[in-house]
Amino acid sequence: MMKTKIKFIDLGTHYKSIRGEILEKFDEISSRGDYILTEELEKFEKNISNYCGTKYAAGVGNCIATAGAIVASGARPVFADVRNDYNIDPEIIEKTITKKTKAIIPVHLTGRSADMTKIMEIAQKRGLAVIEDAAQSIGAGYKNKRVGSFGIAGCFSLHPLKNLHAHGDGGLITTSDDAFYEKLLKLRNHGLKNRDECELWGYNSRLDAIQAAIGNIKMKYIDKWAQRRREIASMYKESLAEFAEMPEDKEYEEPVYHTFVIQSDNRDELRRYLAERGIETKIHYPIPIHLQQPAKALGYKKGDFPAAEAQAKKILSLPIYPELSNKQVEEVINGVKSFYIGTHRNNSLF
Ligand SMILES: *Cc1c(COP(=O)(O)O)cnc(C)c1O
Repeated sequence: MMKTKIKFIDLGTHYKSIRGEILEKFDEISSRGDYILTEELEKFEKNISNYCGTKYAAGVGNCIATAGAIVASGARPVFADVRNDYNIDPEIIEKTITKKTKAIIPVHLTGRSADMTKIMEIAQKRGLAVIEDAAQSIGAGYKNKRVGSFGIAGCFSLHPLKNLHAHGDGGLITTSDDAFYEKLLKLRNHGLKNRDECELWGYNSRLDAIQAAIGNIKMKYIDKWAQRRREIASMYKESLAEFAEMPEDKEYEEPVYHTFVIQSDNRDELRRYLAERGIETKIHYPIPIHLQQPAKALGYKKGDFPAAEAQAKKILSLPIYPELSNKQVEEVINGVKSFYIGTHRNNSLF
C-alpha cells in the first residue's frame, strides 16, 4: 500500500497556519501565570455566546458522551432512528415519548442541524427539555439561528478532531437560562459559589485559560474555515453525485461540514481502493450505538433501528478540512471516480 498522501485530517498544518499567534499568547499567559478561570476564558465565553446567539456560554472540560451522560445522570437513554441526513427523526421521537420522558437530546451530526422546528414543537407540546449535542456543529445554521441556541443547553466539544478545537480536551455549554447558567458555573468548579463556600457537590470540569485563548484566536477564522469546508463539499457534490449518494443541504440549512459522508454499496472496496492510492477515509460510525456493548443492558438488539443499521454499512467520510488544497480535493474526486468507472461501472447505481 502506498504512503498516505491525503490524510483524513491534518492537525499539524492547521496549527502552523496560526502558530505565531498561539505561541505569543502561550508566552503571555504563562508569564502571567493565569491558568484557570481567567479573563481569557470570559472573553472566549462572550465570543461563543455572541456567535451562537445565546445569553451565556460556559467553558468546561469536555462535551458529553451523549448516551453515557444520560446514564451517568441516573436516567435511561431511549434511542430513536435517524433520517437520511444522519440526524434524529422527529416522527420517531413522538412515538418513543412516555410519561417518564424528561428531555430530548438531538445530536447535530456531521455539522448539520437536526430538524429543530419539529423537535422544539414536540418538546413544547409534551413539556420536555431540549439539550443539543452540538459537538460536531459549531456555527451550523438552521432557519437563521445557530445550533446551541434552541434548547435549554447546547453542548460543544473542543476535542482536536472538531471544527473549532483546543490543544487537548475542552468543551462549552451555551444557554440563555439564568438559573441554569448560575448552577453550571458552580457545578464545573467543585460546587463553589466563592473561594471558600461550597453550595453543592460539583465536579472539576473547567476550561483552561490557554485553551480558551487558543479558542479566541480561532474564532477570528471560524467563518472562513466553515466557508472553505462548504466549498470543498460543493466540489465533491458536483463531481461525484452520479457515482454515490451525496449529502444534500435544504435551503434553510447552513451546515459546517464537520464530516462529508457519502453512501456507497461498495463502501469497503471503495475505501480500500482509495487507501491504495494514498487517500485516507473514515467511517462515522461503523457500529450504531444501540449495538454497542453497554446498550445490551437497555434491551436493544439488531433490527431495532433499520435506518441507522443500513447507513452503517454504506457510509464513508471523505477528507474535508480547510487546509485541503483544490488539487488535493481533485485527487480525492479522481480516486472515487476511477473506482466507479474502472471497476464498478455497472453497479454504481444506488
Ligand atoms: C466528539 C463528540 C462528543 C464528545 O465530545 P468530548 O469533548 O470528547 O466529550 C459528543 N457528541 C458528538 C456528536 C461528538 O462528535
